[in-house]
Amino acid sequence: MRPIRPGDRGPAVTEIRTILTGLDLLSAAGPHDDEFDLDTERAVRAFQQSRGLSVDGRVGAETWRALDAARWRLGARTLYHAVPEPLTGEDVRSLQERLLEMGYDVGRADAIYGIRTSRAVAQFQREVGLTPDGSCGPHTMNALRRIGRKVVGGRPQWLRESDAIRQSGPALVGKTVVIDPGHGGTDPGMVVPDGSLRWTEADLMHDLASRLEGRLAASGVRVQLTRGPSPDSCLPDTDRALLANSLGADVFISLHLDGHANPDAEGVATYHYGTDNGVTSATGERLAGLVQREIVARTGLRDCRTHAKTWELLRLTRMPAVRVEVGYLTSPTDRAQLVDPRFRDRVVEAIVAAVQRMYYPIERDVPTGSLDVSELRAVVAAGTVVD
Ligand SMILES: [Zn+2]
Repeated sequence: MRPIRPGDRGPAVTEIRTILTGLDLLSAAGPHDDEFDLDTERAVRAFQQSRGLSVDGRVGAETWRALDAARWRLGARTLYHAVPEPLTGEDVRSLQERLLEMGYDVGRADAIYGIRTSRAVAQFQREVGLTPDGSCGPHTMNALRRIGRKVVGGRPQWLRESDAIRQSGPALVGKTVVIDPGHGGTDPGMVVPDGSLRWTEADLMHDLASRLEGRLAASGVRVQLTRGPSPDSCLPDTDRALLANSLGADVFISLHLDGHANPDAEGVATYHYGTDNGVTSATGERLAGLVQREIVARTGLRDCRTHAKTWELLRLTRMPAVRVEVGYLTSPTDRAQLVDPRFRDRVVEAIVAAVQRMYYPIERDVPTGSLDVSELRAVVAAGTVVD
């Protein structure tokens, strides 16, 4: 769908404005409530910022889904585990965050009322003496309000994710890594002409992904790319996440390049799942930190740090997932490096080292930049012997 943008008019704009007004981001609608004016754009930007979406002031598919889900405030409707089309919305997310804070196992606060959320609600109901039917209606809401916000400390999903990693042992052999070269097909991503050449994010990231695939496969890792070099169409991020889930991937790495109108903007940044109020994927955050530090140490790209985002790609993936923006294609400095295959090999080494370090117990971790990935097999073998 074409994004709804400033200057547009019509019933869709009225609807967007109504939701934004309900969220207190926009003052009550005036006579021109079907007009996407400057105030609407400001409100859309504020909304996108608060939800960790790309801030462009337009309502595309992802922002629309987030707006649609944001209509629901916790307590406004009864929540239950609906099959096959589960309930989703901001109220589900609020409930999940409350349950997580209280130490109940809902998995990730993904705004989807699935079986785990339903089980966690049933457990809560049992403990407060309600019928454990797993649905959240007025009685359960009252019980939640009575208990109030007491944070138990130690979010259970952090512990569980890192437990799973500890149990899987230090070896990369047999792990499944899904690599996601961004864009592709009808969507080239960032495009920068350079003399007679034309650099595109989609092509450069596919090349990087293929190199990474080769290095990981040589270490005994099962690798799957989300797309080929020139697909017919561009796979949406939701499908990429679901693909990784269906493959039972252990790690998901999405590769992108950044771009900016200002050619001075440069550097590498890594994103993991998380919200502004501190709900995060601990293993995703750790992987992001490792990838970011290894790339900075091995390439000298400017450090634009790691950031928590609720992008669908990161939210829907059930394994540690990161999106790396490996430099700015619009920066002459970054671009000169990115178009050099030897540089891309250094990025590959950095990512392989980071993935390897994910599977080292913290106490056996090694300093950033020190892992020689060309001897990965030996390192892995040595690690296995110590175990
Ligand atoms: Zn991109």
